[in-house]
Amino acid sequence: MRCDYHLHSSISADSPTDPFMQIRRAEALGLDEICFTEHLELHFYRGEDWHLNLQDYKERFAQLSSGKVKIKFGIEAGIALKPEHFPELENELRSMSWDFVLASAHTVDNVDPFDPAFFAGKTLPQAFKDYISTILTGIKQLDPDLYCSVGHIDFPAKGVHSERDSRLFYRYAPDEIDALFKYIIPLGKCIEVNTATYRSLGQLDPPGEDWLRRYVELGGEFVTFGSDAHSPEYIAYRFDDAMEIARRAGVKYYATFDQMVPVFHRL
Ligand SMILES: [Zn+2]
Ligand SMILES: [Zn+2]
Repeated sequence: MRCDYHLHSSISADSPTDPFMQIRRAEALGLDEICFTEHLELHFYRGEDWHLNLQDYKERFAQLSSGKVKIKFGIEAGIALKPEHFPELENELRSMSWDFVLASAHTVDNVDPFDPAFFAGKTLPQAFKDYISTILTGIKQLDPDLYCSVGHIDFPAKGVHSERDSRLFYRYAPDEIDALFKYIIPLGKCIEVNTATYRSLGQLDPPGEDWLRRYVELGGEFVTFGSDAHSPEYIAYRFDDAMEIARRAGVKYYATFDQMVPVFHRL
């Protein structure tokens, strides 16, 4: 089973790629299944085009097909929201029948890691602490029936900073990571291993073995794998490495989803 559970197309505000191009690439790679996870960001600082019209998305999705690759209907829901905006997000999520919802934070206090201000006056560990705390604050306010997996816990690594090595290590934010894992694991939720941070590693080893090992210690049994590809060349990017790291850390399964219900595949 080869699948990619995090990809974008021109249906999202930040990708120029026709969704059919993503499907063709997945076919060429011999993937069995992909899930489109277009951006749904409410009250986002980058503008209203990030607030996807879900009816439009559904109609465009209905036109996609492949004889080779199963295509799942997913969404990446931004959860770095003010408390008063969660009911609106929940109503949007309830308005569609999703296969998969990925809950992700893309800002901390409305500042994006792609804005140098995100890192101003902060060490990298502090930036990760703040980011993971933001995920936890958001996810606690979202009805657990409305998401499946928590996206890219090492997202700030992709941002604008001066560090040569921006990988997330467990020791940078142990309390924050533990609190997140202890909250989501008993709910039957999982985290995503997102390989977008692998793109800028150079000669460094991919991150995650330490925090995935902790995830397993705290009872985590499964993950989702996502490339976060906004263009075809990154679909399933370095998934062999990601799977090897997860396996070494003791993760038992990865999941695909059907109508929000996980299907487990042994790692
Ligand atoms: Zn994201
Ligand atoms: Zn994404």
